[in-house]
Amino acid sequence: MSECIYVDGKFCSEENAKVSVFDHGYLYGDGVFEGIRFYNSRIFRFDKHMKRLYDSAKAILLTIPVDVNEFKEIIKESVRKSGFTDGYLRVIVSRGMGDLGLDPRKCPKPTIVVIPAKLKLYPQEAYDNGMSIITVPTRRSPSEVLNPRIKSLNYLNNILAKIEASNVGYDEAIMLNQDGGVAECTADNIFFIKDKVIYTPAISNGALKGITRDFVCEIAQKAGYEIKETNVSRYDIYTADELFITGTACEIMPVVKADGRSIGAEGKVGDITKQLLAKFTELVTVEGEPV
Ligand code: PMP
Repeated sequence: MSECIYVDGKFCSEENAKVSVFDHGYLYGDGVFEGIRFYNSRIFRFDKHMKRLYDSAKAILLTIPVDVNEFKEIIKESVRKSGFTDGYLRVIVSRGMGDLGLDPRKCPKPTIVVIPAKLKLYPQEAYDNGMSIITVPTRRSPSEVLNPRIKSLNYLNNILAKIEASNVGYDEAIMLNQDGGVAECTADNIFFIKDKVIYTPAISNGALKGITRDFVCEIAQKAGYEIKETNVSRYDIYTADELFITGTACEIMPVVKADGRSIGAEGKVGDITKQLLAKFTELVTVEGEPV
């Protein structure tokens, strides 16, 4: 891997990829980001990720200092320089350098960072046999506090949930919203299947509008399944026929146990989940925008 990490105007090596301690992304988590996949030298759902990035920035009154086409070119160049055909991109726009106060008016220039990487979040065994997840006490931040649709650098809410799960031996957690309904997982959306209908919490229930979530809905609809975006309770999850989570990093991960309850008749990866996973794997290598 050569000088492929973009930091504030130049490409540099891993050792030289640094931002200032005065950057408000570091001091306050003030900024936005995207996690993006590329498969077969094609950037998956590139425009949708860029749209969400610019929307997140707009929501926090952060003006990204390059237009979207220029930004896409920087990202493509980063992938080309990495030499990877398959990988993960972390794209970050922080408020930039300021003083030690909160005031973003003291940060004249946002910092742009693009990091291409290899990523394997979970072992193959988890995809083959499914994982177990658990509900944790920390609730998803309500939109009145920080709207979960904003993909901000401020992930402490999700990190606390992740710690609560890992403290008791689980890799992923169900996060509830303020009403006790299911919102999403710490870095993934959640779906369940009951009587061949596919359900996922509505965005208004406190979920990020996941790019993978939307892609899975498209695949499922094309395969003839009905999708319902609705309120989801833990009871719905426990009594589901199949359960899975989705995200750029984990893609589609089957879940076979939730809060100690085996999902479906045998606690095995379900047939519809397998079907969606196969379709997902087939499409991602041809769908994206070539670098
Ligand atoms: N929810 C949260 C809180 C996330 O951080 C992510 C990952 N970015 C997702 C859901 C899944 O979204 P996507 O499919 O766009 O990666």
